[in-house]
Amino acid sequence: MKKHNFSSGPAILPQSVMEEAGKAVVDWNGMGLSLLEISHRSKEFVSVMEEAQQLTKELLNINDDYSVLFLTGGASSQFYMTAMNLLDKEETACYIDTGNWSAKAIKEAKIFGKIVEVASSKDKEYVYIPKGFTLPNEAKYLHITTNNTVQGTQFQEIPNVNVPLVADMSSDIFSRPIDIEKYGLIYAGAQKNMGPAGTTMVIVRKDLVGKLNREIPTMLNYKIHVDKGSMFNTPPVFPVFVSMLTLRWLKAQGGVEAIQKINEAKAKLLYDEIDSNPCFRGRVAVEDRSLMNVTFFAQTPELEKAFSEIAKANNISAINGYRTIGGFRASIYNAMPMESVEYLVKTMRDFAKQYA
Ligand SMILES: *Cc1c(COP(=O)(O)O)cnc(C)c1O
Repeated sequence: MKKHNFSSGPAILPQSVMEEAGKAVVDWNGMGLSLLEISHRSKEFVSVMEEAQQLTKELLNINDDYSVLFLTGGASSQFYMTAMNLLDKEETACYIDTGNWSAKAIKEAKIFGKIVEVASSKDKEYVYIPKGFTLPNEAKYLHITTNNTVQGTQFQEIPNVNVPLVADMSSDIFSRPIDIEKYGLIYAGAQKNMGPAGTTMVIVRKDLVGKLNREIPTMLNYKIHVDKGSMFNTPPVFPVFVSMLTLRWLKAQGGVEAIQKINEAKAKLLYDEIDSNPCFRGRVAVEDRSLMNVTFFAQTPELEKAFSEIAKANNISAINGYRTIGGFRASIYNAMPMESVEYLVKTMRDFAKQYA
C-alpha cells in the first residue's frame, strides 16, 4: 500500500508523473528505446529540455531577460557558484541568515567576496524571519532563503530592496507566484518540489553573468551554460525529464496560482489542528509559518514517542523532525494530496482522544 509520504526531500511527486517516468525508462513513447539510452543531442531529448525551460517561464511568468538552466551539483553547489559568478573579490553581497541552509550559503560565499549578514534569526534558533534591516550602499545583491526546509519558516513577504535578490527556493519553487523582476537569480534543487534528486534549476538574469574579472572553471560558469542553453555537457536527462512531467502536471492543475490556494488550504488544516490539539504545539512564529514544511512538537517526550509510533503504524512516513531539532515535520509540497493531510489530521485527533 502506498504510504502517506511527508518526506522533506527527496520528496513526494505526483503519482501520475512517477508512472509515466517509469514507463519512459523502459520504452519511451514506443521508440523501442529507454529515455536513459538515447543521446542528449537527439531531437527527442532536446524537445524535453526546451519544454522544461518553456514551462518554467510560463508557470512563473518569466520573460526572455532570463535563462532557465538545469545544472548538477545540488543546491549546495549554488551556494558557491552564485558568489563565484556574481561577486568580485572586493565587492560586497548581503545575506539574511534564516536557517541551516542560509548559513551554509554564507560560509561558501565568503570565499569569493565580502559578505555582510544584514539580519539573522539564529539568536532564537531560527524560529522567525527577521524583518527590519538595512543594506549597505555597496551591496551588489541580497541573498535570501525563501523557505527554510529544516526550521519550517517562510518569507511571506519578499523584501523590497534596490539590488537584485538571489534566492534559494529549493523547497518552495512553484508553490506560489513570484515577481521575477525582484530577482537576479533563483536556484532550487529539484528534489523538494519539482522532481528527483540530480538536477538544480537556476533561473538567471542574463545581463548579470560573464561580468567578473575572476577566472571561472567552464562547468561552474553560468555564462557558458546560458550561452549553450543548458546543454554544454550531458545534462541530467532523467531528472530533467521528470521535472518536465511535473511541470506539465502543475500546468494541468491550473498553474501556480491554483496550487497556491490548495497549498494554503492544506497548511491551514494542519496548523489549525496543531493549534487546537492539546497534545501538540507549533514550533515557529505564526506569521512566518511555512506552507511547505510544517514543524511542530508534542507537549512531552512521552507523547512524542507515542505519536511517532502511532504515525508509523498508521502508514504515515517520514514525519519526524530534523535530527538536531526533534519533534515533527510534515512536508506538504505541491504533490501532497489534501487527502493525506486530512488523514494526518485525523490521526492526530484520534491520538488526542486516547492520550490527552
Ligand atoms: C535541500 C536544500 C538544500 C540542499 O540541496 P542539495 O541539493 O542537497 O544540495 C539547499 N537549500 C534548501 C532550502 C534546501 O531545502
